[in-house]
Amino acid sequence: MSRRIDDIRVCPVCNTGNPMLNVTCISCGGYIQDRVASLHLFQTLWMLIESPTKAMQRIIVAQQKNYVFPLQMIFGLAYVAFVFWYANIGLLIDDLQVLLVLVLILGPFTGIVIIMLLSLVAFVSLQIRKIAVIYREVRAVVSYAGFPVIVSVLFIFPAEVGIFGIYLFTNEPSPFAINPVVWGIIVGLDALLVVWSIVLLYIGIRLLTGISVTAVLITILIIIAALLPVIAIASIVSVYQGIV
Ligand SMILES: [Zn+2]
Repeated sequence: MSRRIDDIRVCPVCNTGNPMLNVTCISCGGYIQDRVASLHLFQTLWMLIESPTKAMQRIIVAQQKNYVFPLQMIFGLAYVAFVFWYANIGLLIDDLQVLLVLVLILGPFTGIVIIMLLSLVAFVSLQIRKIAVIYREVRAVVSYAGFPVIVSVLFIFPAEVGIFGIYLFTNEPSPFAINPVVWGIIVGLDALLVVWSIVLLYIGIRLLTGISVTAVLITILIIIAALLPVIAIASIVSVYQGIV
């Protein structure tokens, strides 16, 4: 399997240049980097903040990709909440508690499906371009790249609900009209976290494939495009409610 060739890890035993992600030397079979048996959640998450490249490297190399599914499930909460907000769902269901319960019920399943879909799209788009990748590794990169979005749903979303209540999910009045400054800060923070997710995705895919910057960016655009159909449905719901 071809790995990134511009970065080389030299074997301390036989001096052979090895691809960066190799754990054992292609020539003598000796260990050229620490074997990562499993991932520790908080250590890995902290590393994603401190040195994202090192973190992504460990995530790719790790034999066991721990916490991939719990991360996906929490990511799903953010995704469902986002779609609800985007669709102004509060106009349809005007009970905040019901909406939050729906987020909790639909979120985990949606997260697993969405991350699987995004990983598959990334995997296939790479395979079509004759770039060898392992699906499991792509899925681990995509799952852990969602970490900033998870931070948003765990820490910012409760604040949003606390401040705006049901108006978070309606446009009558919109949260912006209620408190433009607070809403601006919250949307700004959320946008930063999404950008951070995209940066992590970029680092992960680049490490995984060694393809050019442009090729990585194309892959990311394809992944983002895969999110659009659901958002399009949310737009239709939103417009429909405007008519009714
Ligand atoms: Zn060697």
